[in-house]
Amino acid sequence: MHDVIIIGSGPAGLTAAIYTARARRSTLVVAGPVAGGQAGTTAEIENYPGFKDGVNGFELMETMQDQARRFGAEVVMDVVKAVDLNQHPFTITTHAQNYQARALIIATGATPRKLGVPGETEYLGRGVSYCATCDGFFYRDLPVAVVGGGNSALEEANYLTRLASRITVIHRRDRLRAEPILQERAERSGKVDFIWDTVVTAIEGDDSGVKSLRLRHLKTGAESTLAIEGVFIYVGMTPNTELFRGQLTLDEGGYIVTDRHQRTSVPGVFAAGDVQDRLYQQVAVAVGTGAVAGMAADRFIAELEDRAYPERGMAFAAPS
Ligand code: NAP
Repeated sequence: MHDVIIIGSGPAGLTAAIYTARARRSTLVVAGPVAGGQAGTTAEIENYPGFKDGVNGFELMETMQDQARRFGAEVVMDVVKAVDLNQHPFTITTHAQNYQARALIIATGATPRKLGVPGETEYLGRGVSYCATCDGFFYRDLPVAVVGGGNSALEEANYLTRLASRITVIHRRDRLRAEPILQERAERSGKVDFIWDTVVTAIEGDDSGVKSLRLRHLKTGAESTLAIEGVFIYVGMTPNTELFRGQLTLDEGGYIVTDRHQRTSVPGVFAAGDVQDRLYQQVAVAVGTGAVAGMAADRFIAELEDRAYPERGMAFAAPS
């Protein structure tokens, strides 16, 4: 039995752990399939305050983990397979064992969305990637494509300018969704080309991996082929909420619905970070919601204790 179990070890989960462990609540973080979450696979984070020259995402997440551990949080490298939120204390089942928690904080983040074209699954890891920071190194001096027009696509295209010989950004509209500073940087690099109003219809290759993309211009219908050795797909995110479907209220995009105390539809269950934020998927925002979830979980447990030991008096008013 733990006071607080946190599912996910990205910026939201680890910040929540710093707060609950520092509040002297026994805290277990189940790290999930990617320790450090998405932030941990980001080469450089430029807009997280306190680092005027930017910070390496992996190093930032390691530091957050060390900080949570320093206050007594336990971090296990395991993956949650099921949760039972119908009975309190909650039961969390991982690959390794069952745990019980008086409060649960969900910080499972979001996963890159698939393009859904032929060849995407077949060539995964052999030219198809969703993480330039992880796989970019394999494409030194080779031509690659990046699909998408958001911040992720442009940030990763810029990262790839250090490695690939040429980067072609393929976007379905004639204007980027990404912040202008990222487009300006791409243009300044002299290594990034843009193909506008165009979608990828197939990823093609041979036994050695991806060799080309089939493209269709959305305005003219013209079909073409682009020779590349790798394709990095950044067409948005899907929240990691499958475990909670039917147990918590989700919105139409599958994100967990929370209030300003990061409370979900089940008392004692809180959510923080990208899993409940379709709009602002930022490290700084995840850290903020993680801090709120940690404090709210601590307060929830204090209220349980006050109910069990009324002689202690009301330590906290119910959050509203
Ligand atoms: P996003 O902002 O939703 O952008 C997704 C891009 O993919 C859009 O340009 C979209 O086109 C395109 N797209 C979607 N489905 C497509 C399809 N089936 N075929 C082709 N293109 C498709 O997602 P994101 O870039 O992953 O960013 C997610 C969130 O994280 C955003 O809130 C973003 O601001 C944030 N983020 C911020 C930073 C930063 O601050 N530096 C870095 C990374 C991510 P349309 O434009 O036509 O919709």
